[in-house]
Amino acid sequence: MTDLQDLYQELILDHGRRPRNFRALDGATGNAEGYNPLCGDKVKIFVKMDGDIVKDISFEGAGCAISTASASIMTETLKGKTRAQAEELFQTFHNLVTGRQAQLDAPELGKLAVFSGVSEFPIRVKCATLSWHTLRAALNGEGEVISTE
Ligand code: ZN
Repeated sequence: MTDLQDLYQELILDHGRRPRNFRALDGATGNAEGYNPLCGDKVKIFVKMDGDIVKDISFEGAGCAISTASASIMTETLKGKTRAQAEELFQTFHNLVTGRQAQLDAPELGKLAVFSGVSEFPIRVKCATLSWHTLRAALNGEGEVISTE
């Protein structure tokens, strides 16, 4: 393991244990629930949009360290971003965890880069992307339930 991988591991464990923005959101303009039956991860994403801007975002749920850390870091990353920026980041992040995006070529990922190692564990890809798929549903409407299967 390199030092960088150790650092990434630390960040994932930290966010898995002490998730940020872990709460229901008052006055949410959209929410959605996601379920990953392969691992048993469940997540509910809340968004509060101000026009095109993600004014606030939070989540609740229970899952493995990767799914929890992914939701936690996603909420930190997306606050203040536009809908289009969120969609773009989802694409880049998805490419990263499926091994189609070199992390060094995508500085906009910021902390999301800690999930680059997931590309070596295909079964974990759905853990890492569940919150993002659910976010997309939350941005599109109210109370939708999605499954990764
Ligand atoms: Zn999982």
